[in-house]
Amino acid sequence: MKRRLIVPIAVALLISACAESDPSVDDPGAETTAPGTSTSLAEATTTTTTTTRPPTAITDRLGLGDSRYPALGNGGYDVDHYTVDLTFDPDTDSINALVMIEATATEPMDTFSLDFLGFEITTLRVNETTADAKRVDGELIIEAPTTLQPGDAFTTTIGYNGTPQPIISEALPFPIGWFEDSNGVAYVVAEPDGGRSWLPLNDHPSDKATYTFLVTVPEPLVAAANGTWVERITDLGWSTWVWESRDPMASYLATVVIGELEIVEDAAATAIAGVPVRNVLPPELAAAQPAALGKQGEMIQFFSELFGPYPFEAYGIAVVSEFPAALENQTLSIFGRDLVDAPAFFETVLVHELAHQWFGNSVTPADWGDIWLNEGFATYAEWLWIEHTRGEAALQATVSGERNQLALSADLPPPGNPPADDLFNASVYVWGGLTLHALRVEIGDEAFFETLRRYFATNRDSVVTTSDFVAVAEEVSGMDLNGLFDSWLYGDTVPELPTSAN
Ligand SMILES: [Zn+2]
Repeated sequence: MKRRLIVPIAVALLISACAESDPSVDDPGAETTAPGTSTSLAEATTTTTTTTRPPTAITDRLGLGDSRYPALGNGGYDVDHYTVDLTFDPDTDSINALVMIEATATEPMDTFSLDFLGFEITTLRVNETTADAKRVDGELIIEAPTTLQPGDAFTTTIGYNGTPQPIISEALPFPIGWFEDSNGVAYVVAEPDGGRSWLPLNDHPSDKATYTFLVTVPEPLVAAANGTWVERITDLGWSTWVWESRDPMASYLATVVIGELEIVEDAAATAIAGVPVRNVLPPELAAAQPAALGKQGEMIQFFSELFGPYPFEAYGIAVVSEFPAALENQTLSIFGRDLVDAPAFFETVLVHELAHQWFGNSVTPADWGDIWLNEGFATYAEWLWIEHTRGEAALQATVSGERNQLALSADLPPPGNPPADDLFNASVYVWGGLTLHALRVEIGDEAFFETLRRYFATNRDSVVTTSDFVAVAEEVSGMDLNGLFDSWLYGDTVPELPTSAN
């Protein structure tokens, strides 16, 4: 994610408007019991064989114990694949969806939960059997028709309809989730926990899955999603756009973008990058594309040589109005129009969101407390692009300028300890980026770039912690780096920068 420091007033107004309605109070019969006190679904059933274990209490599985957001995600199973079959009606701003979740149990369970807010649920099946469920604090707690045992593959099918709404996240000063802009473009920007505003899911980055999207919209609207556009099926004035995301993806990166848009293939960028590059643009931008957009092929080539091969099946951006930021949705980053219209900043943010495809999307923090592994890396990638395009002196000027600016900011938390109510604070970006620069100076260019390549290659399509990165850096350099990382990631003040990069 990347945003300007000044959040537009319109966004602040949207926050107060949304704050008046609680999207979690959505079912007339919804339970309001707090997770810690809900026991009605937690009773263990007696199993009939000695090879099975009794189910663990559902309360132990409501949330994965993330250090910042302990209630996010759910234990007891791993999702393998989501099939999202969704119809959007722009006349009513509503969706009608059928989501099929293929998962594997990791614990004995007679109930399990998904993160999900809002909507009227019309269908709920586990395997082919109708199931009961209740809602508790943003969780949909489902009773499995038979006790699931570790290793059991099971399919949960949920049909629902209604008008999706953005949600208020503890992490950010603006709403996230499903939006519709003033041009009628609907889109999803969910980091970190807005996925439940449009999908039932296991909403934590530690449970990656593949996705199929079948998005039906009236002609001539276009619907884009993560991955590869497979086909468009037309029927009686409606089009179903089929997209496949074949690489594992964290739930916060799943997206759709729907509107009067054009999917613009960039043949030149595709040829340079060696991966299909396509952008989803409003007609006026498709007709007159900003110059920086044409640099994406060169950017992909540059980072592929520096970090390792581009990790996914395609890349590109989608441009929407009003969103005050950009988000690195996997294979399809979303940009607010204001960023696109600021040429120099646009190029910087293009670099930033692209770099996240390696660091954040393919190699993903297992805990939101390690968000510097996303933002510090994407910020340092911006500076690497400056070095590449403008030379080493420009890099040095940027690094010292950023460090001095950062040192003036009072009371910034260190990048390794972000507060839950300000996850994307400046420190995880700039101080995190400076941490990487300090490492580069300490171990030298050869070991530094080998560390980045090995860290990416070893953890591709997976999840990591800060200690995984430290271990790779120590292995490659042969040095004890605990002191360096302790002072840069967890110290109270920004350390002095080493004098020069070699
Ligand atoms: Zn970012």
